[in-house]
Formats: sequence, C-alpha cells, structure tokens
Amino acid sequence: MPMAIALKARCVFLGAPGAGKGTQAKKVSETASLAHISTGDMLRQEVASGSALGETARSFMDGGKLVPDDVIIGMVQARIQLPDAKSAWILDGFPRTLMQAEALDRSLGSSALTHVVYFAVPEDVLIGRLAGRRSCSKCGAIWHVEHQPTKSKGICDHCSGKLVQRSDDSPEAVVERLKVYRSQTSPLLAYYRDRKVLRELDANRAPAVVFTELLKLMQ
Ligand code: AMP
Repeated sequence: MPMAIALKARCVFLGAPGAGKGTQAKKVSETASLAHISTGDMLRQEVASGSALGETARSFMDGGKLVPDDVIIGMVQARIQLPDAKSAWILDGFPRTLMQAEALDRSLGSSALTHVVYFAVPEDVLIGRLAGRRSCSKCGAIWHVEHQPTKSKGICDHCSGKLVQRSDDSPEAVVERLKVYRSQTSPLLAYYRDRKVLRELDANRAPAVVFTELLKLMQ
C-alpha cells in the first residue's frame, strides 16, 4: 500500500491512447487525494446514461474521432468547478487539441497548470497495449490479457465484474485514434514546452516503475 501524500497539483497527463495515463492517474489520485478527471470516462458515462450529450458523443467515439471541442470544453469547465476539484486535480485525456488547451488556459487564469506530464511510449507498443486492454464493466479497473491478466479469465480481481473490451479498442478505431493523436494532439507538446511546464516521462516501463517516477516528477 503506497504512503498517502499531499500534492497540490493542477496537472495534465498527455500522451497517445494506451500510454497508461488512465491507469497512473487513478493510482496517483488515490495516493495523493487529487481529483481524477478523465474526459473519456465522463463521456462513457454520458453514453451509458443515454443523455443527449452521450448520443452526440457516441458516434465520434466509436469511430475513434474526437468529440467536438465546444462539447468537451463545456463539460470540463463545469467539472473543474465542482468542490472536489477546488485545489488539486489531474486532467486525463484533456486537452487533446490546441483549441482545448487555449480554452483551459483561459478558464484557469492565474491558477495556471503546475505540470504537464507527457507519457512517452513507442507506437508499436501502444498498439499491443490497446489490442489486449480490457476493463471491468463494474468498477472500471483496467487489465491486459498478457501484461496484467486477472486470476480468472474475463473476471475482475477486485470486484468480480465482467471484463469488456472498449468498442474503440477495435483494430480500425485504434488506427484512427493514433492518427488523430498524431495530427491533433501531438502539437500540444510544443505548446506546453514553450510554456515551460512540460515534463517527459518514459512510460514504456512496468507500471510500478512509471508510478514511482511520476510521483517524483510531480513533487
Ligand atoms: P479516452 O478514454 O481518453 O481514450 O477517450 C475515449 C474517446 O472519448 C476518445 O477517442 C474521443 O472520442 C473522446 N474524447 C475523450 N477526451 C476527449 C477530448 N479531450 N476531446 C475530444 N474527444 C475526447
């Protein structure tokens, strides 16, 4: 059990799909009492609830495309006003476009970002990670058929929920998501490098090693 620590960070986890942002954000938020704000998880909840926003988002998500900026920016602006996100949070999966990054800067004003962590992973490794990724339909825990298998095939070790493959982890959607990442999200590296908040993390290592390095970077 990792020691509880206090981090007053307002940070962005940046990286391609499959880089491990979600897994690490979950662990850091549990260890350091930060709000974990995953736009992908928020959108999946909207889809599951059948809301109008979910209906709009679904077709973009299933095809591996980005949900329109105005939809996602409004959703994040409302989320970071909630009480649990008053002082410290991790944005996982947002921003993904320059327009989103600029909108975030404007909303934060003087409470600027403290860190932007770039999870660097080679593309061939990402493809293998996404193809074998499974998540628990009940508690959301993330597993991998080879690298992080459950004790019993298809069943979550934590809550016995059924494991499912995300519809956008299909081979066609993965190709599209990586293409979208290269064209629309990777320009954010230069954006944050220019603002001197970018920290690069070699995320092509075991999750426990990445976690230790990440906590060091964020302190
Ligand atoms: P993720 O779980 O972060 O991989 O997100 C899953 C999907 O949700 C993405 O492929 C997009 O369709 C959508 N999505 C999540 N975050 C954003 C964002 N910041 N901008 C646009 N679309 C997003």
